[in-house]
Amino acid sequence: MGRFTGNVCKLCRREGMKLFLKGQRCFTDKCALSRRDYPPGVHAQRRSKVTDYGLHLREKQKLKRIYGVLERQFRLYFKEAERLRGNTGENLLSLLERRLDNVVLASGFALSRNHARQMINHGHFRVNDRLVDIASYRVRPGDKLSVRESEKTKKMILEAVEVNKAQVVPDWLNVTGEGFLSEVVALPRREHVPHPIQ
Ligand code: SF4
Repeated sequence: MGRFTGNVCKLCRREGMKLFLKGQRCFTDKCALSRRDYPPGVHAQRRSKVTDYGLHLREKQKLKRIYGVLERQFRLYFKEAERLRGNTGENLLSLLERRLDNVVLASGFALSRNHARQMINHGHFRVNDRLVDIASYRVRPGDKLSVRESEKTKKMILEAVEVNKAQVVPDWLNVTGEGFLSEVVALPRREHVPHPIQ
């Protein structure tokens, strides 16, 4: 599946909120949103009143952008969320949270979602001792995420863990083994989603 390759800071400026797409930079005063707190584009400041449809659209766009999912894949997630029992919105959030790139990021093994995705594509992670190089791979309770037995991989993970040491790992994940193992102990729920999505 494809991914957005443009200027991600513009996405935050468009949504009017931090989407945390650039790792630690998002927490510094280099964050584009703290310097230009208005939407990108020449006519951006002329935008008129937001309709109900517009509100829904913005929430959808936020979700897609936070999880790095393009429209087509997002529609598939939505269809699946509708098919599942329970609240469609909550099912959708849970499906997105269970993506492998999100698990890597939430476990503190990567500096940003793009970094997580790149490490997965390069084969640095295993799920239940099997190499998985698909960022959208969906984890289930009981799955164990481990890192490749290589000095280079461990060095990268250790650096990320050090940078992310203030980050709280959600309680549906259990990080052990000196930071090289993350186990999925439950399904993520609405309250585990660290983003203000309506
Ligand atoms: Fe968004 Fe991070 Fe860029 Fe700030 S630095 S605008 S939070 S991606």
